[in-house]
Amino acid sequence: MPVELLGKSQPDLREWMASLGEPGYRGAQVYHAIYAERQRDFASMTNLPAALRERLGREATITLPAIERRYHSADGAVRYLLPLRTDSAAGAGGGATVEAVFMPSEERQTICISTQAGCPVDCKFCLTATLGLVRNLGAGEIVGQVLVALEDNRERLAPRTNVVLMGQGEPLLNFDATMAAVRILLDPNALALSPRHVTLSTSGIVPGIERLAQEKVRPKLAVSLNASNDAERDAIMPINRKYPIAALLEACRRYPLRPWERLTFEYVLLGGVNDSPEDARRVARLVAGLRAKVNLIPWNPGELPYRAPEAAAVEEFRRILAEKNVLVFVRYSRGQDIFAACGQLAVIESGMEARA
Ligand code: SF4
Repeated sequence: MPVELLGKSQPDLREWMASLGEPGYRGAQVYHAIYAERQRDFASMTNLPAALRERLGREATITLPAIERRYHSADGAVRYLLPLRTDSAAGAGGGATVEAVFMPSEERQTICISTQAGCPVDCKFCLTATLGLVRNLGAGEIVGQVLVALEDNRERLAPRTNVVLMGQGEPLLNFDATMAAVRILLDPNALALSPRHVTLSTSGIVPGIERLAQEKVRPKLAVSLNASNDAERDAIMPINRKYPIAALLEACRRYPLRPWERLTFEYVLLGGVNDSPEDARRVARLVAGLRAKVNLIPWNPGELPYRAPEAAAVEEFRRILAEKNVLVFVRYSRGQDIFAACGQLAVIESGMEARA
């Protein structure tokens, strides 16, 4: 069985090359070819000796996720359904798919990726939650979503790429594979993305936030807040019973922000649920003193039993936060903005045209 190289770090590839009796630096060359040059064919890695290229062709493989289906939105975004591998290395999860989305704009593309198939966190406003956890993705399956989206849109790539870990799954509950993928995304010898342009969104897994804080290389952090008190948050995000708002905000206060960095709080406004002026005042108190911004995301009605907030309620919410000196943005739910909170991908399916 050929060895799958996608998802391997540079030290992994050096070690693997050494195990073949080759110098370790050949591993670094293959690492650069896979992630920086986005090559998949050993025959075109012409800085490797011909005999090694042939051997790699027999003994290794670089497999991007297959595309089962594409959904095209009117604004140029493409959502991908990617079937999971079902071989024994990948474990269970046959028949399931994950999602990635490519969202173009003039100066950049934003790619939204999944870290788990399904999700064990039971947010009540999220269609992914209805799947439960199918399985964790491996590092190669996570980084592969970025590579496949770049490859499929290579004719129209802007100079800059943003990646948001806001698709299916809770990234901090698949910490090791997620961070292995993030290190490849941020490595100047690999995809070379800036840490300013990679954002991990969490439902508020406090031990995961604390662990992320210890990482030398890390993305920006977004927290899906969505409520202004525990009773409200318990009702729409049951994970709050385990990690209540006070513990979550305490972890945010301790989080070591880099000089250029702000925390992001995502707040999906559900009409009549969490969009009152009192909610806005409580949110302002919660985030007071934090270097943070709040993204308000008016709910887009779909299959779940929530309604969109009134436009006046959205504006009032925004005004109250701004008046309390909170940096606040309203992300209206079209194209890229619908993805601003994790697990929102499935919601847009009905608005996109399928093309295989
Ligand atoms: S919103 Fe995110 S964390 Fe919550 S259930 Fe959906 S995918 Fe999981």
